Amino acid sequence: MPGKLPIITQTPSANFGDRRGQAVIDMLIIHFTDQPDLQSAVDILTDPNRAVSAHYLIAADGRILQLVNETDRAWHAGVAFWAGARDINSRSIGIELDNPGIDTGAHPYPAVQMQSLQALAIDILCRHPIPARHVLGHSDVAPGRKQDPGPLFDWQSLAAAGVGLWPKDWPADSPKAWPNTPASTEFGWSQAADLLARIGYDPALIAAAPAAVVSAFQSHWRAANIDGRLDPQTAARIAAIAAMVEADKSL
Ligand SMILES: [Zn+2]
Repeated sequence: MPGKLPIITQTPSANFGDRRGQAVIDMLIIHFTDQPDLQSAVDILTDPNRAVSAHYLIAADGRILQLVNETDRAWHAGVAFWAGARDINSRSIGIELDNPGIDTGAHPYPAVQMQSLQALAIDILCRHPIPARHVLGHSDVAPGRKQDPGPLFDWQSLAAAGVGLWPKDWPADSPKAWPNTPASTEFGWSQAADLLARIGYDPALIAAAPAAVVSAFQSHWRAANIDGRLDPQTAARIAAIAAMVEADKSL
């Protein structure tokens, strides 16, 4: 069970602007800070000379800092795309997790940090119409360019708490896919490319950098095997998530 929402400490950042276009906040984007410690992350996310921020920053010990008001447009997603949208910052809430990133190998997220994230995410979902298919990692909306929150982020337990998409069971390997590179024209890729676009990934990027998009998918839904290849289990999972996204749209 998710715990109680911890007290949120206000740590204001000046790095924000007005949300543009539609006023609805309907996406939640999860990041790692890629910094050695919390203070380094706070310094960067509040540095007026650095055009970066997020709405929230969750420390490894579970403390929650709020840097930007939810009504404002924080600068966390950058060049991004999801389901036809490019200005992800205008429609999303961004949560940074204090974590050193993956340059020296992936670092686990402490349970207390994940508990705070769960509680905060549930609180946010109660206040904004964010569908499960719009709970995403930075790597989902910027494949190839970003890899956070990385392979050790537990999307499954987050979904079990009601935040994001995760199936009850994964299907058996797809007999239609081969362990080939997605750039290959072998049977299977064209269907997978279509399904990845239906899930929300950028069609232009699927065509231009297929392995990066498959890696982004794997980082979220098949983290044990992030190699950018459309192997039979990855293909089966792409089909399963595409079906869940379609079902989520009809809710
Ligand atoms: Zn990020």
